[in-house]
Amino acid sequence: MTERKIALEAKRIVVKVGTGVLTDGGAVRPRVMGSIARQVADLMDEGREIVLVSSGAIALGARSLGWSHPGRSIPEKQAAAAVGQIGLAELWRRRLDRHGRRVGQVLVTRTGLEDRERFLNARHTLTTLLGLGAVPVVNENDTVATEEIRFGDNDNLSATVVNLVGADLLVILTDVDGLYEHPPVPGEPKPALVPLVEKIDARVKEAAGGSESAFGRGGMITKLEAVRSASRSGAATVLCNGRKAGVLSRVAAGENVGTLFLAGSRLAGRKHWLAYTARPLGRVELDAGAVVALRERGRSLLAAGIAKVDGRFGIGDPISCIDPAGNEFARGLAAYGADEIERIKGRKTSEINLLLGYSNGDEVIHRDDLVLLD
Ligand code: GLU
Repeated sequence: MTERKIALEAKRIVVKVGTGVLTDGGAVRPRVMGSIARQVADLMDEGREIVLVSSGAIALGARSLGWSHPGRSIPEKQAAAAVGQIGLAELWRRRLDRHGRRVGQVLVTRTGLEDRERFLNARHTLTTLLGLGAVPVVNENDTVATEEIRFGDNDNLSATVVNLVGADLLVILTDVDGLYEHPPVPGEPKPALVPLVEKIDARVKEAAGGSESAFGRGGMITKLEAVRSASRSGAATVLCNGRKAGVLSRVAAGENVGTLFLAGSRLAGRKHWLAYTARPLGRVELDAGAVVALRERGRSLLAAGIAKVDGRFGIGDPISCIDPAGNEFARGLAAYGADEIERIKGRKTSEINLLLGYSNGDEVIHRDDLVLLD
């Protein structure tokens, strides 16, 4: 298949390894891990750059604490992650060391990366590690992330890493062979595998309706979210079975394994961050005319088109734009705080100075700071 050339030619690759691939009942699968490390080293020898996003901290930690469960509460899971992460990083270090490759542990949080400056800092660190020929091993810093603020699954985290490093391919190594024509039903023959997805439409979402995978937090739906986010960074994704021998090398050689999802139109780095990483601190509800101006005419958002404002946010904060039907259709960085927008909403641009005593420009969200969602 000619589309597989994308994987063959990919230079910078993010490889996400799921808990179900690396561990079995909390114990490491040493052969799988060793084999992935060897494939990573081989690809690096070919001149490719690899970032590993590795799950497994909670499973490993729970086992070494002698638990038969992965932690019954968030603090217990966090404690397990704290114990398990040491071992996880050490396992990757030992295995990649055998191939003469250094490993750098990178623990990130969603709130950390929501801050544009820290996001750029993380980018510098990761690209510096790659420049040094080292393998960044990334995981969520589970210890500090509470339920509302965490990535929660490494599928979404891996898509953010794709955007961080500007990767051209994301490989999700999981415990299923790829996307099936429909969710597998236990006891029935496995449905056919979908080899290629050009666009995530309703049919694809239906096919993803469930996941065979019992481990890890991300089912097939979260994988599709990750695929979509990676695709808007301009990266293709291959979803495949990480327990099969040599699967990563085969993907990177352009072989027809797993499911290949093509990349979509690329959003510039900052806009991608705005759409997929930043968390909106408020929202503005727009009238129908403003929705058309933003969506179809490529215009900035003016005060006149705003019907309602909610949330507590200041200048430069990310906010959602809502259409009259209540759907979020765009995100942008506010040029005015919520209190100011409350005073100027529905009014003409020429009135801003009079109403506020100053003006921060005509646009409430400048076009350059606005991104339309799918
Ligand atoms: N950060 C979690 C861990 O290392 C994994 C999250 C996931 O399963 O996607 O255990």
